[in-house]
Amino acid sequence: MTLFTKIQKREIPAQIVYEDDLCFAFRDINPQAPTHILIVPRIEIPTMNDAKLEHQAVLGHMMLIAPEIAKKEGIAERGYRLVINTNAHAGQTVPHIHIHLLGGRALSWPPG
Ligand code: 5GP
Repeated sequence: MTLFTKIQKREIPAQIVYEDDLCFAFRDINPQAPTHILIVPRIEIPTMNDAKLEHQAVLGHMMLIAPEIAKKEGIAERGYRLVINTNAHAGQTVPHIHIHLLGGRALSWPPG
């Protein structure tokens, strides 16, 4: 079971900000911006390399939930960034796909 499934099952505490049948979202424990939320599918898909056609609905759903959360957080209009790190070169540390929703300040580009 992944760390994020343990959060989903309330075995590890987290500040959950959104939940539905397909995904859930909670505040990152080590925020990189004033708003830093992780959007995670209920099913365990390790990385984007493992995403298949059968995951299209849940992955598309997560993309559509992100702006809804951004609006609730009050960061939608000024802007935000969605990030999916994949494997070592991108710094992925938890093998359970997640979208980072980052905002609340100007974010630099390109990333380091
Ligand atoms: P990754 O590096 O895999 O793209 O992102 C994993 C994220 O999970 C990191 O930003 C890290 O701070 C966050 N994280 C790791 N452990 C926990 C935890 O126990 N609780 C919460 N809320 N976030 C965590």
